[in-house]
Amino acid sequence: MALEKPQWTELFHEVVTSGLCTGCAACVVACPHDVLDYTTAEGAYKPFHLDVDGDAENCTHGEKGCTMCTRACPRFRNWETEIDQHRFGRERTDEEVFGVGDVILARSSDAAVRDQGQDGGFVSTLLIYALEHDLIDAALVSGLEGDGTTWRAEPRVASTREEVLETAKSRYTYSANLLAYPQAVERGAERIALVGTGCMVSAPGAMQSRKAGKIARRLSLTVGLLCSKTFDDSLFEEYFEAQYGIARRDIAKINIKGLFQIWTHDGSYHEVPLKGAHAFTREGCTHCPDFAAEHADISAGGIGAYSDWTLVIVRTDIGRELVAALQNEGLIETRPGDDDPGAVALLHKLARLSRKRWPETAVPGPRRLPVSSS
Ligand SMILES: Cc1cc2nc3c(=O)[nH]c(=O)nc-3n(C[C@H](O)[C@H](O)[C@H](O)COP(=O)(O)OP(=O)(O)OC[C@H]3O[C@@H](n4cnc5c(N)ncnc54)[C@H](O)[C@@H]3O)c2cc1C
Ligand code: SF4
Ligand code: SF4
Repeated sequence: MALEKPQWTELFHEVVTSGLCTGCAACVVACPHDVLDYTTAEGAYKPFHLDVDGDAENCTHGEKGCTMCTRACPRFRNWETEIDQHRFGRERTDEEVFGVGDVILARSSDAAVRDQGQDGGFVSTLLIYALEHDLIDAALVSGLEGDGTTWRAEPRVASTREEVLETAKSRYTYSANLLAYPQAVERGAERIALVGTGCMVSAPGAMQSRKAGKIARRLSLTVGLLCSKTFDDSLFEEYFEAQYGIARRDIAKINIKGLFQIWTHDGSYHEVPLKGAHAFTREGCTHCPDFAAEHADISAGGIGAYSDWTLVIVRTDIGRELVAALQNEGLIETRPGDDDPGAVALLHKLARLSRKRWPETAVPGPRRLPVSSS
């Protein structure tokens, strides 16, 4: 990137309109001139250039040499190789289909946190520990708007135990948590954790490897969530309500374990097939090759035989130190990944399936697979 200065025009054509854009919003929050915005209207989940200092395809700041949006984008050109090199000092091998890292199973030792969490409450335990031990000032997470009855996910800042627990559990519609970054900075945060799906948590690595300045330094911890797709918000009315009579306001919790598990406030439990929901998959997910949030410090998921445990992939030194600290303080219980060979096999399978979605016309790295499974 030294001689050429790729900017919004290149990003617009090569990522935003080519099908590679995941809607992570990294370009929007990295733009120092505030000329990018973000829309979820009609299921878009995409950045766009405001009609000032340029137009939809052109940016006058880019023409003058600003490259911040392409530095931030975790789908621009050789993103996977560049971020692998930066984070792990090497590229992943073909066998490391879910990225670099070791699998363990973990859950909070505190039954109340487990109860609040989606699976084992591991992510919330980690965030609370990092906040209370002054390792981070804030975390970018996902909450539900208003009183929660609309089930509309919104990016939020959590800087206390209460805010972490209020925003625990999973929403399966997209939440571009990076959009809460300006709010965290307004609160004075300098060390910020990002929680998010793989597409989002590759952004700090992209920013750091391409030297995107302050934002790259501030995003100092990344917690990834395993993910094979997110849905458009219309899923609620057009699928859950229209076909199964389950209204948004009645839903207490949703999980996915091969199907939608839906608990409602009246105490009942419903199972809804995943198959019928495919039509509501966000466009940004259809070419996503990263099931396992491969560039996070720690990735977390819910696959496996033990429903109240979180499957955790520990990837970096920061991740290893945090897990060791949580163990030493007795805040989590852990067991080896080998305790659930089915979960590890499923992790490999789902990671392989996602890699095959990366278009053959784009750079080849993310499609690379072990010869035995390609
Ligand atoms: C959209 C989505 C898809 C997922 N798909 C899979 C999957 O296919 N297979 C699998 O094994 N696991 C998947 N997960 C991960 C799983 O649901 C749990 O998040 C994970 O196991 C951690 O559980 P926990 O109890 O440790 O987390 P908790 O302690 O409950 O913390 C969860 C954290 O995730 C944040 N969060 C919630 N919803 C979103 C969202 N939409 N976007 C960004 N951040 C969010 C919360 O704010 C909270 O900080 C997915 C999660 C999400 C959000
Ligand atoms: S993938 Fe993210 S950073 Fe790249 S163009 Fe899309 S929203 Fe912007
Ligand atoms: S599948 Fe998940 S990680 Fe990939 S683009 Fe969609 S939301 Fe992001």
